[in-house]
Formats: sequence, C-alpha cells, structure tokens
Amino acid sequence: MSIISKDIQKAIRLLTDDELVAIPTETVYGLAGNVFSEKAIKHIFSTKKRPFFNPLIVHLSGVEALENIVAHVPDKATLLAATFWPGPLTMVLKKNNKIPDIITAGKDTVAVRVPNHPVTLELLRQLPFPLAAPSANPFGSISPTKPSHVERYFKNDIKQVLDGGSCKNGIESTIVGFENNEPVLYRLGALSIEAIEAVVGKVSVKNKKEQSPDAPGMLARHYAPSTQTLLVDAVAEEIKKHAGKKIGILVFKDSLNNTSFTEIVLSKKGSLQEAASKLYDSLHELDDQKLDVIITERFPDSGLGKSINDRLQRATFSL
Ligand code: AMP
Ligand code: MG
Repeated sequence: MSIISKDIQKAIRLLTDDELVAIPTETVYGLAGNVFSEKAIKHIFSTKKRPFFNPLIVHLSGVEALENIVAHVPDKATLLAATFWPGPLTMVLKKNNKIPDIITAGKDTVAVRVPNHPVTLELLRQLPFPLAAPSANPFGSISPTKPSHVERYFKNDIKQVLDGGSCKNGIESTIVGFENNEPVLYRLGALSIEAIEAVVGKVSVKNKKEQSPDAPGMLARHYAPSTQTLLVDAVAEEIKKHAGKKIGILVFKDSLNNTSFTEIVLSKKGSLQEAASKLYDSLHELDDQKLDVIITERFPDSGLGKSINDRLQRATFSL
C-alpha cells in the first residue's frame, strides 16, 4: 500500500507519537519530526544517514512562534521575516536553551523558517510543537520535489508522505545567518540574493563549496544523481567527446534538436523560476534511465540562475 496520503489528522497522530512524516513545502519535501522528541530527531538522522555535524532547519507556523525558539532577533532579521515569511528564506539565529543540541549540531544558533505551503502551514498550526525537517532524501542524493520521490527513497522507513503535490519552487531555501547583526548568505536557494539585498542592502556571501564550520551542509558533493553528471557551457561541444555513450542532456531553454539523445528542456520560455521548479524532477528522471552520462548546461549567473548553477555544481562534483 502506498504511504502517500492527504490525511492531516494521521500526520498529527504520527508526529505526536514521535514518528516521522514527510511534509510538502514550497521548496522540497521535508522529513519532519517533533523538535522536542529526541527519538524523532535521532530517527531523522538515521533514516537520512545524515552526519550529526549537519544541523536541521526548524519549521514554524508563523513569526510569532520565533520567541519560543531563539534568544535574539537582529533588526534586519525582523525585516526579512516580515518581507519573506512564509517563504523560502531560512534564518540562522541565536538559539534559546529549550532547543536540543542535536538539532543544531551543538552550535549556539538554530536555523528557522516559516514554509509557504497551505498543507504544512495547517499542520504546523494544529501541532503544539515546531517541526525539525531536513530534505527528505538520503544524505547527498537528489532532493525530492514530488511525493513519489520520497516514497521511493523511504517507503520502508516511514509511515506517511503527506501529499501536497509538486513543490512550487523546487529548490532548497536560501540560508542567511548574522554576524554582528549583519546578514551573511550561507546557502544560495529559492530566494535570490537580489531580492534579499533589495530589502536589507548588501549581503556578504559565505557559500563555501567545501565543508565549512558555519554551514556544515554545504559539502562540495550534494544533491547528486548516481549517473556521472557534467556541467558545461557548451553542451553541443561536450557531446562530441562522448561518442558511443548513452547520453542525457539537461538544458535551460534551447533544444539541441537531436533525437539521438534523451533531452530535457527546463523552460522553453526561458523562465528561471520554471527551470528551478523542474530541476530536481528532471535529474530524477534522467538518473532513472540508466544513461552513461548526464550533460547539464550552465545557467546565466544571476538571480535564480546562480542558485541553479550552485546545485548543478554540487551534483556534478566528482570525488
Ligand atoms: P537541508 O534541510 O537538508 O537542506 O539542510 C539544512 C541546511 O541548513 C544545512 O545545509 C545546514 O548546514 C544548514 N543549517 C542548519 N542549522 C544551521 C546552523 N545553526 N548554522 C548554520 N547552518 C545551519
Ligand atoms: Mg538536503
């Protein structure tokens, strides 16, 4: 029997019982548990095979819930929350002493956001506790943007994927921390830097490709298909180097019009928003086809194009 269901009351029962439920958000599906249940939180790490040094994002029903979680909110964080929540912006703030160390990997900060999805907002409003939820994929693999992606990963591990359809943004939240009360970008994501800077002015960027103490999740290899994947400026040129191979192509807007390859065009009309929303689903689809190589095209380096390039780079980084 499928574990995908729209039953919010079932999700409430499971989460209250210290069990995990995969939840829909506008970014990607999350693997959620009660923030205050040690059993649930340990289960999140073991199910994902996520290292304990990689902290989790706490999901709240609204900005009012922030005072139960954090010790201090810089003025610019208040402004960003008022502008972008509910939405794909995670903020890393000083935690209060109610937040267990396991959530934050022992750090004195906690990552929080209010997701913009009607089903999960309803769930969070009905629960008496916030939800810790990293993306619902095994550590390092492609993030899930549809209930079926999660079911495939975790059908033997969890009892419910709460069905909220396909994720609208389709790429993880943008993560912003604060140093001396000034915003610092730790992870590019579904909210562009340009949008953030329009509200709070210049933001410095620490989006390291290697392991970084500030944002341990920013590993060089992440979000990766199991098929060898390349990121290039000129796809047609690259294809010539792979004669005789089964090739998959992922391009932004212009088809190569060559039927000898499996090709996915992310947005014929050239919309970065549309391309981001289809990115992971397309990587899942190409990865399923037992190809020898997936060749992806580099995006324009601005707005969401920057975030897409960041994910493609991590998907293609070879060890
Ligand atoms: P995921 O939800 O799987 O996309 O991963 C959550 C991301 O949030 C990871 O990249 C973490 O490194 C980051 N994160 C969570 N808590 C903190 C924190 N306290 N400081 C810095 N980064 C954090
Ligand atoms: Mg993740």
